[in-house]
Amino acid sequence: MNDETTAAPIAIASPLPRRTRQARVVWGSRVVTVGGDAPVRVQSMTNTDTVDAIGTAIQVKELAQAGSEFVRITVNTPEAAAAVPYIREQLDRMGETVPLVGDFHYNGHRLLTDYPDCAQALSKYRINPGNVGKGDKRDRQFGQMIEAAMRWDKAVRIGVNWGSLDQELLAHLMDENSRRAVPWDARQVMYEALITSAVESARRAEAMGLDGNQIILSCKVSGVQDLISVYRELARRSDYALHLGLTEAGMGTKGTVASAAALSVLLQEGIGDTIRVSLTPQPGEARTQEVVVASELLQALGMRAYVPSVTACPGCGRTTSTTFQELAKQIDDHLRSQMPVWRVRYPGVEKLKVAVMGCIVNGPGESKHADIGISLPGTGEAPAAPVFIDGEKALTLRGDNIAQEFHQLVEDYIAKRFGGRQPESVA
Ligand code: SF4
Repeated sequence: MNDETTAAPIAIASPLPRRTRQARVVWGSRVVTVGGDAPVRVQSMTNTDTVDAIGTAIQVKELAQAGSEFVRITVNTPEAAAAVPYIREQLDRMGETVPLVGDFHYNGHRLLTDYPDCAQALSKYRINPGNVGKGDKRDRQFGQMIEAAMRWDKAVRIGVNWGSLDQELLAHLMDENSRRAVPWDARQVMYEALITSAVESARRAEAMGLDGNQIILSCKVSGVQDLISVYRELARRSDYALHLGLTEAGMGTKGTVASAAALSVLLQEGIGDTIRVSLTPQPGEARTQEVVVASELLQALGMRAYVPSVTACPGCGRTTSTTFQELAKQIDDHLRSQMPVWRVRYPGVEKLKVAVMGCIVNGPGESKHADIGISLPGTGEAPAAPVFIDGEKALTLRGDNIAQEFHQLVEDYIAKRFGGRQPESVA
């Protein structure tokens, strides 16, 4: 045991502070800041055909309501570019001001020039330096896109991806590597190519006159350790705001776990100003799942609060009935579904902590740590469920209606604690 007089308190873990420039992604009066002292932003991407303006607007709104702070849409053809202003118009009519980001590859220089309404309706352009053109066209076409960003006062993400890496740059770096006395590993050359492509493109854009604050960088790869290696070095070499994400993360549990593993390490080190979780939706799964995972990740790290958190134990042999699983799910679903309304009516409700526990072993203790918690009776225990409010035992529920009664207690608690508050301003 430590000597009480000399023992130092154990450090409380928290993400390291970030020091990047700050970009502004704007639509109308809505300004979403990225980097600097802004909170880490969640973004997402539609999977509708952009030409289907109504379908795309509906999905953008769903993603925004789920918590996406800007939404990217692919702009791949003249028809898609022509549809962008209508998508924006539909969203504005629905009262949805989430900024739209245009994802451009190969022909972005032409689309942004030929479709000025599209260029204007977007709030940020994603430019992939590996896909802007080859040889002498590359700089010219990249330049056209930067000029459009300057003309319309838009932020830009220079988004490098190892699946579409600038092959001329990679070949050049491979050549250089072959002349080294001790050549680097091929993966290290690839890392170098990703970072060089992003940083040099950003510097070229700044040299053309684009405000460096309006540049966000990304270097996406699909391996967890590769992503960590690349972003650590990218953050070391530049102070641009960084978009973080594991590209092609995959489906379901695999994609969720891989994204969480990679992003958590980097976010904890203060690296990353906006994130996307690139999940492949499982058949029938909502596109919004990627936003839920990204938000949960930030909330789990203590970096953002989106929805009240429900602490539930995993259950064990002491909980042979499904009562507590059902109650935990019902409460979680209810809190999530009410958030669009509660966010406005009950400012601060996203910080609420609810506990739904399966038995007396950890139930009362965990419930006391929550704002409101219930400890359900485990197998063989007396059919009584103590409820704890603000750390104190408040009452005991009994009978067949425990779930509904607890639901009501949560509602009453929220109304009493968060009703009548003024909303906090959002940067
Ligand atoms: S709180 Fe009780 S039911 Fe839940 S995991 Fe622990 S022992 Fe099992």
